[in-house]
Amino acid sequence: MDGGWGGEVPAVYGHEAAGVVDEIGPGVTSVKPGDHVVVTLIRSCGHCFFCAQGDQHICETQFPLDANSPLHDDAGQ
Ligand SMILES: [Zn+2]
Repeated sequence: MDGGWGGEVPAVYGHEAAGVVDEIGPGVTSVKPGDHVVVTLIRSCGHCFFCAQGDQHICETQFPLDANSPLHDDAGQ
């Protein structure tokens, strides 16, 4: 955002993505269709002690993907 790593700003670099929510699945409450979102590999809850201090990169919340990888082989393992 500040251009510290070079290149044209504003920009979305690397593994981040941005878009608009089209649909949500059962149990999803944090976003709704039409919301504009930014996705990053560094997950943060926005509510824990560290997130509240502005240190989202060391968020202490456990997320479902921390315990259950979305990756699997043909046998489902
Ligand atoms: Zn957090």
